Amino acid sequence: MSSSVSSVVNGGISFWYADDGFPAVREPLGGDASADVVIVGGGYTGLWTAYYLKQAAPFLRITVLEQKFCGYGASGRNGGWLYNGIAGRDRYAKLHGHEAAVRLQRAMNETVDEVVRVAGEAGIDADVHKGGVLEVATTPAQLARLKAFHELELSYGEKDRELYGAGETAGRIRVADAVGSSWTPHGARLHPVKLVKGLAAAVEALGVTIHELTPVAEIRPKHAVTPYGTVRAPYVLRCTEGFTASLKGQRRTWLPMNSSMIATEPLTDEQWESVGWDGLEALGDMAHAYMYAQRTADGRIALGGRGVPYRFGSRTDNDGRTQAATIEALREILVRFFPSLAAVGIEHAWSGVLGVPRDWCATVTLDRSTGLGWAGGYVGSGVATTNLAARTLRDLVQLDSGQGGQTELTGLPWVGHKVRKWEPEPLRWLGVQGMYATYRAADRRERVTSSAESSKLAQFADRVAGRH
Ligand SMILES: Cc1cc2nc3c(=O)[nH]c(=O)nc-3n(C[C@H](O)[C@H](O)[C@H](O)COP(=O)(O)OP(=O)(O)OC[C@H]3O[C@@H](n4cnc5c(N)ncnc54)[C@H](O)[C@@H]3O)c2cc1C
Repeated sequence: MSSSVSSVVNGGISFWYADDGFPAVREPLGGDASADVVIVGGGYTGLWTAYYLKQAAPFLRITVLEQKFCGYGASGRNGGWLYNGIAGRDRYAKLHGHEAAVRLQRAMNETVDEVVRVAGEAGIDADVHKGGVLEVATTPAQLARLKAFHELELSYGEKDRELYGAGETAGRIRVADAVGSSWTPHGARLHPVKLVKGLAAAVEALGVTIHELTPVAEIRPKHAVTPYGTVRAPYVLRCTEGFTASLKGQRRTWLPMNSSMIATEPLTDEQWESVGWDGLEALGDMAHAYMYAQRTADGRIALGGRGVPYRFGSRTDNDGRTQAATIEALREILVRFFPSLAAVGIEHAWSGVLGVPRDWCATVTLDRSTGLGWAGGYVGSGVATTNLAARTLRDLVQLDSGQGGQTELTGLPWVGHKVRKWEPEPLRWLGVQGMYATYRAADRRERVTSSAESSKLAQFADRVAGRH
């Protein structure tokens, strides 16, 4: 391992907290209580839901229950890609027709602007820069996938997406061996923790009650049960994403998939000169085990990808601690992309979990017979999707309580989607390990062959995993 990796700050939730500081923790629940709506989980989903519900109906008594502190989960650890991707769109097109999926995609495009707009309105400075998303191909097989992906996105109405050759790609970001890229304007980079801290403060200022250090052990119709008391409410909304398995009865609902990140030291002007990236695009690639990265407001590269994909028994990480091998693997991606940065120091590494449903489709639901609602399963595309989910939960609660009617959002194809649970262990563990081992092998093979055909191995893994 290189010396630059051995000195890394490991875990501590995420680099974003090291940069912006931890918030003061709010009081836990003090005993039994009642509310009109109780929201379990203080990440983007829970907080946006509280925000929009309270804006729509200021008289509602809304309580958020958070096991640690708001932003402890993926919302305080992500790559800060605010973009228009939504997990499951292509499956929703098959299930509900192309036009329905076009509506979903249009809603996602608008959601990127909604987050930027509302964050601005609420006075949240989250280092937002709307430079779009640039996804690059570095092998012939990746290029073939990139072109197919580009065409697919156009077919969902994204007319402003652009396809670049090697020269135009280098004009934006000088990724070694890049043979092409696809750019969409529907994306922004942001500072995840500034957003989640700002949101929690905005929600509280609106009059929502937030209890932290309050783990919910069980959700039942009209009840959220904690060690300190039970909150009763007609609506109980589960917004726990990658942590959902820890709730009673939810062990196999969404698989907690791990994603890991590193942040470099701030680059010098000469180093930025060698890299380009003046447009501050969110950067990704077309590998099967893909990477994602941003140029941070303070001049670092924050880069993520899949490390150990999944822990046996749906366990989550320990405050973001990351295996040395994963840190090294991410550093290798950084250096493969930008060989001129071989000597740059890695300052921080961390991990987090995201929720993966059995069919890899994000969903938002309110069961009108029980008042139980939930949103999640975003599979790593949640920074924007959480906002769309929250506005949809607002509309569903309004509809059910007679405060509103059907809306464009309640008619989107991901609303009310149901899927079977994951297999019991050890099948779950074996399946996910096998899938990612196959992806990595497929990526390695594609890097050394001139064939434009995607590895059959990866296609097989996709089918077995239920992705396509
Ligand atoms: C490393 C990493 C990088 C990512 N990068 C991107 C990206 O660049 N772009 C993108 O679009 N998406 C990204 N994602 C995904 C995105 O961050 C998530 O989809 C999104 O933050 C989900 O928000 P959430 O509120 O649903 O879940 P979370 O942010 O995980 O919030 C859930 C909250 O619920 C709390 N909780 C859990 N269980 C309980 C309980 N029993 N009782 C009380 N509270 C509970 C948790 O403590 C947590 O605060 C990334 C995820 C990770 C892990």
